[in-house]
Amino acid sequence: MQKPILEVDGLKKYFDIKGGPIGRKVGEVKAVDDVSFTVMEGEILGIVGESGCGKSTTGKSILRLIEPTEGKVKFQDQDITSLTNSEMRRLRKDMQIIFQDPYASLNPRHTVEKIISEPLLVHGMTSAKQRLDRVGELLEVVGLSPYHAKRYPHQFSGGQRQRVGIARALANNPKLVICDEPVSALDVSIQSQILNLMEKLRDEFNLTYIFIAHDLSVVKHISDRIGVMYLGRMVELTEKNKLYDNPKHPYTQALLSAVPLPDPDMPRNRVILKGDVPSPANPPSGCAFHTKCPQAMDICKEVRPAFQPVEDNHFVACHLYK
Ligand code: SF4
Repeated sequence: MQKPILEVDGLKKYFDIKGGPIGRKVGEVKAVDDVSFTVMEGEILGIVGESGCGKSTTGKSILRLIEPTEGKVKFQDQDITSLTNSEMRRLRKDMQIIFQDPYASLNPRHTVEKIISEPLLVHGMTSAKQRLDRVGELLEVVGLSPYHAKRYPHQFSGGQRQRVGIARALANNPKLVICDEPVSALDVSIQSQILNLMEKLRDEFNLTYIFIAHDLSVVKHISDRIGVMYLGRMVELTEKNKLYDNPKHPYTQALLSAVPLPDPDMPRNRVILKGDVPSPANPPSGCAFHTKCPQAMDICKEVRPAFQPVEDNHFVACHLYK
């Protein structure tokens, strides 16, 4: 039976807004506001939402690349929010991240060999020969060749650079990989190659992914379950097919109604959301979606809806399902 590898409970990340001549705190941006979910071993959990909804901040807060403001993150039953920096550094071997922009995330002055060797050295592989062998092995695993080790990032295409990023993330055999928009910067033709590679690696190395993206078709392709975020909050979380066949939250319904269909003549009920997304520095009261929700009720302005199960394995934060 699958067991949870990661449990996120009430995660918050608020950023201070400073102002005035002495830079005093004048407010805060609630980038992640009370987000809870569980990821099972070997699962791919997709997290979707528009840009600025807090999905990337959630990923980075889980790894403590940015310190969470509040909340608990348990990785393999261990509360990692209370670990010291050096304890956390040791644990990072098991928890890795793949970044969106493969060019910006690779040091342009380092060869691929140095880029992939670095995490090996940090985690105790002191023999240069062993490191070189491992780099060659990893390059083959991601569909490149050992001779690529002597090249620099600018000598690769975008897709190849992302393969290098994946090889670096896998260097120390992690258990959990947070994929932060790993294909958004790539051409559509290359996206599917990288997605297929990531699926293959998941099966081969029994990896668990949190796959963050804004493109619903990308997330649908790769995920087992999907969480939808809006303005720093998780508003719906369920299995992929349930989400696409029977979305419950009005925001998810609007998002899915905007996904292009292969047949333009197919009938569809497009939900048009009016106005801009409110600022996370000043989110609306009650349900943060009430200013745009076509089904908003009086209670929605006053009371924040709880994120709760409405069906087996289907969580929604909406007063329609009380
Ligand atoms: Fe719409 Fe109210 Fe549900 Fe929020 S709680 S999504 S405003 S119906």
